Amino acid sequence: MNHFDLINGVLHAEDVALPDIAAAVGTPVYVYSRATLERHAQVFRNALSGLDNPHLAFAVKSNPNLAVLKVLAKQGYGADVVSGGEMDRALAAGMAAQDIVFSGVGKTAEEILRALKAGIGQFNIESEEEGAELAMLAGSLGLTAYAVLRINPDVDAGTHGKISTGKADNKFGVGIDRAPEIYARLSALPNLHMRGVALHIGSQLTSLEPLETAFNKVGVLVQALRDQGHIITHVDLGGGLGVRYRADDNPPEPAEYGDMVARVTKDWGVRLMFEPGRVIAGNAGILLTRVIRVKPGSGNAPFVIVDAAMNDLARPALYDAWHDFEAVAPNGQKMLANIVGPVCETGDTFAMGREIDPVQANDLAIFRTAGAYGATMASTYNSRGLVPEVLVDGDKFAVVAERISPETILAAEHVPDWLK
Ligand code: PLP
Repeated sequence: MNHFDLINGVLHAEDVALPDIAAAVGTPVYVYSRATLERHAQVFRNALSGLDNPHLAFAVKSNPNLAVLKVLAKQGYGADVVSGGEMDRALAAGMAAQDIVFSGVGKTAEEILRALKAGIGQFNIESEEEGAELAMLAGSLGLTAYAVLRINPDVDAGTHGKISTGKADNKFGVGIDRAPEIYARLSALPNLHMRGVALHIGSQLTSLEPLETAFNKVGVLVQALRDQGHIITHVDLGGGLGVRYRADDNPPEPAEYGDMVARVTKDWGVRLMFEPGRVIAGNAGILLTRVIRVKPGSGNAPFVIVDAAMNDLARPALYDAWHDFEAVAPNGQKMLANIVGPVCETGDTFAMGREIDPVQANDLAIFRTAGAYGATMASTYNSRGLVPEVLVDGDKFAVVAERISPETILAAEHVPDWLK
């Protein structure tokens, strides 16, 4: 459920008419709904109500906007971060350092040191080498780092290959077969308190089966580690729950996920941790765009050229992802169209041969389900500016990320004297 609905024939974000946002901020622009973010945060929390004090860490990579993080901080969420920059954002949003989990396969020494000094709650170690470096750096500061070992369970998540993370040939974590020996060596290191394991097998999972298979493997590993004498107090189950991008998608409900987790983990005796991203933010945002012009296509589907492009919303170009496209003021009829952006790449195509609301030049339209992995993946390709972001709360809205103009980007570039 989300709060982007038609009111008197015009699409609104909560109580704000989208044309009002376009008039004030211009297009393209991402628009987020606070009520939707809060609702999703609560639905996910309620889905886990059968667990004892689960730790909820919003996956910042899915939507790192400071105001979005603030909304989630107020909902009691911590953060899952994968870089020093994301850590800074989570802290700036008021999340407690203790509630931040630091994941990522390539943490630099500088990032680790900063995270240690900030008092980050947990490091999710992705290799033995990283664990050894973490122990050494913690020692250099006279600190103890709390950590879990991310394992790679070699399970096919059944999602797009580029967002699958739990297969043996993916770069993430350590192979589950080697986990006991690596865990034993890491546990023996000074300044490193190993307290459990983590996994995350991929994103946009539309079936619970691979998750359950992976969790069962982790259950066996937890027992094996305990049999070796290790004290396992935490297991981080990652994120990954899929959302509905198109009408016939049927992702698992958070409640079904929560029931499965409760069933599979009932004897583990650990504090469970979660890193949801898309399920919280995905349907809480749209990308508002304006049609530049409509030009004839080769068949009976014209090209609808919108002012948003692959640099603003990369998912269709990256993953062939589907985003529903709707006119802001639909007239009830339909047309067939190819929806494209202005960037000079054939890949800058949002949809081919799609049945859409009829639109013409200057009309406003939206791409739905753009709240996760949307603005955060934006680039300046073709020397386009960085797309702004707006947060709506009831009948008010605010620009929560300014448009960064091509001029500003150009101003950061310099021609060296010896080239002038
Ligand atoms: N945790 C980790 C380690 C991730 O890499 C990701 C994203 O792939 C997530 C959590 C969030 O995943 P999702 O947005 O699918 O919930």
